[in-house]
Amino acid sequence: KSSGRSRYAVFGKEMDTILQVRRNIEQDLRAALQAKDQIQVYYQPIYSATDRKITGVEALLRWHHPKSGWISPDVFIPIAEEAGLIEKLGEQVLREACTAAINWPVGTVAVNVSAIELRNPSYAAGVAHLLLSLGMNPQKLELEMTESALTDNSGQCEQNVKALRQLGVRIALDDFGTGFSSLSRLQRLEVDRIKIDRSFIKGFGAESGDEAIVQAIVELARATGLKTTAEGVETKEQGKRLQQMGCDNLQGFLLSQPLPVSELNSLLGEGTPS
Ligand code: C2E
Ligand code: CA
Ligand code: CA
Ligand code: CA
Repeated sequence: KSSGRSRYAVFGKEMDTILQVRRNIEQDLRAALQAKDQIQVYYQPIYSATDRKITGVEALLRWHHPKSGWISPDVFIPIAEEAGLIEKLGEQVLREACTAAINWPVGTVAVNVSAIELRNPSYAAGVAHLLLSLGMNPQKLELEMTESALTDNSGQCEQNVKALRQLGVRIALDDFGTGFSSLSRLQRLEVDRIKIDRSFIKGFGAESGDEAIVQAIVELARATGLKTTAEGVETKEQGKRLQQMGCDNLQGFLLSQPLPVSELNSLLGEGTPS
């Protein structure tokens, strides 16, 4: 019994520590949003599976904390969402990515959107306003969102997505396969592309059934007129299999890491300072 009690005591202490760390991150994130130089946008190239040319990039947030070093977006995005900071952060990424992308010869720039942003009734109007003020072709922008964002109860997210698509903005369903929507519902969702979650690509070669699942996803997408991107492609074998399956685009460390804007510019052979 006593050992049980002390376990809880330790647990309680650990909880306090976790909460304290969270509060610190939240506080520092607020400061970072003001300072600006700590938070950067990196860009990971996305390639055509057949000819391996760059067809677009995905914007990914990077936070370099002055004391703790790099903090993963998987850590600070959920905190930003809970702390009411995600809309400001999302707006910054979108503006920066679109501004940078205007002069790139790549097809699309993809930006991740949080469900919280999409719940704001004026989200689509904000995007429209930004594109107009930058003179950017809406078809150059792709917004990535997860299934949970698209199936929000209020219907507000769906309305934003409808308005965005009417504008010409492309919509990609991120981390596909990890949610719990049925494949048959795919047709009803207003998306242009699905991004096959990297957990499935990881299982290639092992007898996990992952290859069969990905094959089925690619075929279903083709039949319904959707494009597919495979995430987390790390090996040549994975790339080759995905190409054979008819997957349209590849993204992953095999082809390129996410890059700071200067490195992406040299990769694109532009050298445009930004
Ligand atoms: P995501 O949208 O699924 O982004 C893909 C993640 O996979 C990125 O992690 C990327 O660096 C990583 N990745 C790319 N290729 C490979 C690979 O070959 N192997 C492996 N193991 N990983 C690979 P990152 O940059 O740490 O971002 C994590 C998540 O944070 C993103 O997942 C996204 O959900 C979120 N995030 C990042 N930037 C933003 C943003 O601007 N707004 C919002 N709302 N979320 C963001
Ligand atoms: Ca994404
Ligand atoms: Ca993803
Ligand atoms: Ca993810």
